[in-house]
Amino acid sequence: MTQEELFKKLVAHAKEYGFIFPSSEIYDGLSAVYDYGQMGVELKNNIKRYWWDAMTRLHDNIVGIDAAIFMHPKVWEASGHVSAFNDPLIDNKDSKKRYRADVLIEDWLAKQDEKIAREVEKARKRFGESFDEEKYLATSPRVVELAAKRDEVHRRMTEALNANDFTELRQIILDCEIACPISGTRNWTEVRQFNLMFETKVGSVAEGANTIYLRPETAQGIFVNFLNVQKTGRMKLPFGIAQIGKAFRNEIVARQFIFRMREFEQMEMQFFIRPGEEMKWYEYWKTFRMKWHRALGFGDDNYRFHDHEKLAHYANAAADIEYNFPFGFKEVEGIHSRTDFDLGQHQKFSGRKMQYFDAETGESYVPYVVETSIGVDRMVLQVLSAAYTEERLENGEERVVMRFPAALAPVKAAVLPLVKKDGLPELAREIIAGLRLDFNVQYDEKDSIGKRYRRQDAIGTPFCITVDHQSLEDGTVTVRRRDDMEQHRVAATELHSLLERETGFRALFQKLA
Ligand code: ATP
Repeated sequence: MTQEELFKKLVAHAKEYGFIFPSSEIYDGLSAVYDYGQMGVELKNNIKRYWWDAMTRLHDNIVGIDAAIFMHPKVWEASGHVSAFNDPLIDNKDSKKRYRADVLIEDWLAKQDEKIAREVEKARKRFGESFDEEKYLATSPRVVELAAKRDEVHRRMTEALNANDFTELRQIILDCEIACPISGTRNWTEVRQFNLMFETKVGSVAEGANTIYLRPETAQGIFVNFLNVQKTGRMKLPFGIAQIGKAFRNEIVARQFIFRMREFEQMEMQFFIRPGEEMKWYEYWKTFRMKWHRALGFGDDNYRFHDHEKLAHYANAAADIEYNFPFGFKEVEGIHSRTDFDLGQHQKFSGRKMQYFDAETGESYVPYVVETSIGVDRMVLQVLSAAYTEERLENGEERVVMRFPAALAPVKAAVLPLVKKDGLPELAREIIAGLRLDFNVQYDEKDSIGKRYRRQDAIGTPFCITVDHQSLEDGTVTVRRRDDMEQHRVAATELHSLLERETGFRALFQKLA
């Protein structure tokens, strides 16, 4: 199965089992907008909880807020979003399709990498055992030529993006002979700037409508509340403010399911520090955030850092944490050293002092900021892709199992009466009544026990608890583990502590300590 097929199956599975639906589906959907179903919302809430507690509860100098989506329009002038939150777009005149110029070039670059990989595979077959990949990459004239051209285009693109040189971006597209995937032609418009912020109006038109924006990031809600929190919480530097909330971006190319959406959720934390200490904290947060990802146990090699070549207007250092998605390594989270840019700008635009009085040094100054910023939905997609597994069982049957870390699983346990009679359903309900006070548990009595197991595997439930006739006699039940399908009998009175131990966040948090 190719990675592309795997991804298609994952998207279908997410829909079939109530994780993610296209928005307004009965009206044929709305591009790049999705709804979370009954399983998706549980998974998403657990991911948010993992982030929130790891950031706020496990750090005694980080607190949370929940700011409004609407903000004073001047916020976005100060932050630079009105003038600089743009993507370079280009249209194909024949298909009338719109693209991001940099994405067209990046796709071309990826194709060159695929060509090189194919050459390497051919050579590996030709040379057999004695094949030396490193040497081949360095000496094969065709590969060397491909790689040189790719590197040259990559360099040109980075420079053009940094300089906002749209003529050059268009020229690269022409030089690489990039054609529109729909029309197949190279009939391109000029490259233009496209602002990603959604606008709306407040107030009735008669009163004179005021344009405001749907926030494109949650961070600004933290910056404008910096002094409120610092003063009322009597916070001392270094300290952080965390927030989870919706953000909106009018993305030109929306694709890869919930990877790039127009309405999405972010989990951001701004860490306020003394100027000059930003590199120390930048390294700290890079390390901590990577640990948070790897603690989920999806394989350390599936994560990597990617240092930014093009720094955003506010940053003096920035790196992404990338995950190995079915469509390649892609950004899940960004860690940015934002200097005093944002607070400094708000000080300028609002005319209010955004300074901190440092009792230790006796000085007042605008703090520096290191931020961590992760998309909730992208994290959901990361977890879904990592968890999705197809398995052939010993008896020849197949199962799809979502191998979620138990703490993130939407349902922690299913309680299943073996048959629908003899008092077994009643006993199962009694067990559930005790467990549901602390855990999300499901009752299921329909179909054979095997089918019921499959349904729970498909939504990633870590434990299936079967109630049978012996349960009536000695109060024991069978516990089946999702991953190895091992079964053992335990006393029903033990279930609570078993679920607490195995499905709680404690084990994850211990890894972060
Ligand atoms: P990209 O380069 O993918 O557009 P970005 O660098 O603009 O992302 P940031 O502004 O750093 O992203 O946003 C922080 C995080 O928010 C990203 O790492 C990602 O997880 C998430 N995010 C950003 N844009 C979207 C989107 N359109 N849909 C879903 N998540 C997003």
